[in-house]
Amino acid sequence: MKGRRVVIVGAGMAGVAAAIKLREAGFDDLAVYEKGSSIGGTWRENTYPGVACDVPSHLYSYSFAPNPDWSHVFAPGPEIRDYLERVATERGVAGLVSFGDEVTSLERVDGRWRLTTARGGRDEADVVIAATGVLHHPNLPDMPGLETFAGPAFHSARWDHAVPLPGARVGVVGTGSSAVQITTALAGTVGELVLFQRTAQWVLPVPNHPIPDEEKLRLRTDPLAIPARREELSKTFTEGFANAVVDAGSPQMKLLEELCRANLEDNVSDPELRRKLTPPYRAACKRLIVSPNFYQAIQHPCARLVTESIERVEPEGVRTADGRLHQLDVLVLATGFRVDRFIRPVRVVGTGGAELEAMWSPRPWAYLSVSVPSMPNLYLLNGPNGPVGNFSLIDVAELQIDYVLPLVDLALSKGAEVCATFEAAQRFEAERVEAAKKTIWVTGCRSWYLDDRGVPAAWPWTMDRFREVMAEPRLDDFEVTPC
Ligand code: NAP
Repeated sequence: MKGRRVVIVGAGMAGVAAAIKLREAGFDDLAVYEKGSSIGGTWRENTYPGVACDVPSHLYSYSFAPNPDWSHVFAPGPEIRDYLERVATERGVAGLVSFGDEVTSLERVDGRWRLTTARGGRDEADVVIAATGVLHHPNLPDMPGLETFAGPAFHSARWDHAVPLPGARVGVVGTGSSAVQITTALAGTVGELVLFQRTAQWVLPVPNHPIPDEEKLRLRTDPLAIPARREELSKTFTEGFANAVVDAGSPQMKLLEELCRANLEDNVSDPELRRKLTPPYRAACKRLIVSPNFYQAIQHPCARLVTESIERVEPEGVRTADGRLHQLDVLVLATGFRVDRFIRPVRVVGTGGAELEAMWSPRPWAYLSVSVPSMPNLYLLNGPNGPVGNFSLIDVAELQIDYVLPLVDLALSKGAEVCATFEAAQRFEAERVEAAKKTIWVTGCRSWYLDDRGVPAAWPWTMDRFREVMAEPRLDDFEVTPC
């Protein structure tokens, strides 16, 4: 029998926002399934030293839950996790979450979604919101001998806090945002920090100041202060970054490149080290690193950059192609994530037995990144090919939730089955692939933004266009009962 039940999969930033907005819109037959033991998603999983957000705090917060108490311009990870938990509790949605309850399959049966969970639970829902995150399946490197390493070895998103670090020789593999934050946090606090770089990165030096108490007081007491701050940050971020990366020839993009180059030249005087740290591609082609002190950290007397490729891991450390053994006590794999998984490994079977796994082979796709044909009343937040590398993902998720709400209402108030048409999804994909040719992401680098064809798996237009498109669903692009 059909009802009005909505299930959200995932209690990270997007899932919490979805639960709050759905409740506020009057949908109160609501459940949230979360595989982890607490709220927070990426901010629960990433606890490595130095973890922080490189989107300004007042922008990386919900529009409906301003926080005058952010400690820094860029908030540390634990503070963001606490914020998400606090908002979920205050808004009364924390109690909706079933923790440690991983959804393993979603199957369309008699016009509803039938869910099963790893611990044997069953549920049915009329609408499912997949808020399952993007960056949470660790990409473990295929390094020969890794299993022979005598000391602790772990991925950056699986930090082992039981391992003592003072005095230890710590190797970090990778030079992405995680590795850079780990390096800046550990250089000078451990015995030796050895950074294994496969590809150099451009680094944008944005300072991260503590927010003074008087400023927090002003943000708390002046009701217009936080909205004004958000507006200002959003404008700067949109014009200076989000719009720049989708137009490789833009003056803003050139400015970003100049700032990165000046950062390197001003802060690394040793010509050999500077050569090693100079990327052979344009800034922001790979995900831009934001760090005010990476170059200082890597030049710390107890830090060392290794650019020879890794040949194998041995019990005592890492052997590089020049034959040298780098002796280590701890090995950190800051090697990124499998970014094309999205809702999977959940088995999703839609109308007529359509399997998402098969539909998404060789790569995931979705109409406007939220709806998949044959998957009625299933919506993806921060799904495939959205603005994952352009903007604050909180803002993106909120826009997507607001976009989805009228479609949810249509499904629940009319018992309708709603999903994007194949034509609309194909048209969107074709336009997206064409537009991606102008972006910085295709200017000659290897990055996780690129799919198996080398096409950026991202939103290739401006944020203004994203806001416009998300303002209201075009019902012509949807099939409504039956899908
Ligand atoms: P990442 O950007 O994917 O970086 C992975 C690093 O590991 C790269 O330097 C890569 O080298 C290296 N690597 C991978 N496999 C390797 C191998 N087999 N041998 C040697 N090196 C290898 O991962 P991440 O740093 O975890 O960041 C992922 C994303 O998370 C970021 O892009 C960002 O969107 C997000 N993030 C955000 C923040 C934040 O402050 N908001 C912080 C951390 C992460 P190549 O470059 O040569 O491939």
